[in-house]
Amino acid sequence: MTYDSDNIFAKILRGEIPCHRVYEDEQTLVFMDIMPRADGHMLVIPKTPCRNLLDADAAQLAAVMMTAQKVANVAMGVFAADGVTVQQFNEAAGGQEVFHLHFHILPRRTGDALRPPGIMADPDMLAEQAARLRAAVTAA
Ligand code: AMP
Repeated sequence: MTYDSDNIFAKILRGEIPCHRVYEDEQTLVFMDIMPRADGHMLVIPKTPCRNLLDADAAQLAAVMMTAQKVANVAMGVFAADGVTVQQFNEAAGGQEVFHLHFHILPRRTGDALRPPGIMADPDMLAEQAARLRAAVTAA
């Protein structure tokens, strides 16, 4: 399997389509999932190309996991969460739809179920959540 540089996250990285940015450093970018399954649902991606866990190199994985830990801790506070679910899918048979490595960060409240997939969020709500997360990650 080869990397397709026309995937939607590659376009976000090139600035060709917008996203609600939460955090970035040299190696990683975090933005809001447009079809969130929980309040504060974020995606953490490497800035360099790889399809998923199967072809990522050690540096990409290390960078993405460190960023995932950082924003997961921030999301616990911002969303008064009791826990965080991390999801990651590999190839179509594994549930992957966008073929640029990404980790889902899902803040969870005790007893709350994840919302069904495929429901677009209100962009104003995503912008507001991203702003709260950005402020908290800067202060962390
Ligand atoms: P999966 O590859 O199965 O992990 O799913 C891809 C995820 O990307 C889904 O949760 C989508 O809601 C999300 N997604 C797709 N397009 C965008 C986009 N333009 N901006 C933010 N999230 C997206």
